[in-house]
Amino acid sequence: MNPKAVSHVALLCLSLPAAAAFSTHRKIFADASASSRRSITKCQASSNDENNNDNNNNDNNNNEPAAAQTDQDKSGTNNPLRLAVLKLGLTELKWTSPLNYEKRAGVYSCANCGTVLFDSKGKYDSGSGWPSFWKTADADRVAYKKEWDGRMECTCKKCKGHLGHAFPDGPRRIDLSEELLEAVPADDLNTSDPKNVYTRLPRYCVNGASLKFQER
Ligand SMILES: [Zn+2]
Repeated sequence: MNPKAVSHVALLCLSLPAAAAFSTHRKIFADASASSRRSITKCQASSNDENNNDNNNNDNNNNEPAAAQTDQDKSGTNNPLRLAVLKLGLTELKWTSPLNYEKRAGVYSCANCGTVLFDSKGKYDSGSGWPSFWKTADADRVAYKKEWDGRMECTCKKCKGHLGHAFPDGPRRIDLSEELLEAVPADDLNTSDPKNVYTRLPRYCVNGASLKFQER
């Protein structure tokens, strides 16, 4: 065998494992894509018209049959950013939500199920780049879950949509009037000693994409 032929054979031998690995990689990627497509389709199937602001009083959960879910879906969303935040728990880029800059009086509802979650009365500028609140709109609106890294996740209590996180570095109690402090719902996250005026209220750091604002 001449030297040129030897080098071709060697090249072929070297290429075979690489080709096999590439083929395996393609298969894994194709499987992942198919799985991802299925998830997205599922999210979209559990949503509906973005502009439908109807509040939904149906308390169906995910264990119920598909026919029952159709009613619940009427107040959902097809907006990809909202879905990424609400359903997958992703975080929007800071400073990007128009609601971070919203100063008008009004209410902030869950973009998925329409439940009123926060009020402009509890909103403040935390400087974090995300819409921030020191209290929820009313009792029984937000659920909490401690994450693996210690952060406290906040979700919509009704539809389980991801909202953001609560941190213990909100406004100081002494900087708020007694009237405002009395308006804090009883089941709001207690991040410090309520008897000490120098301790802080929670900071609900919320993705604007998970909320819809309605002016009063
Ligand atoms: Zn909700």
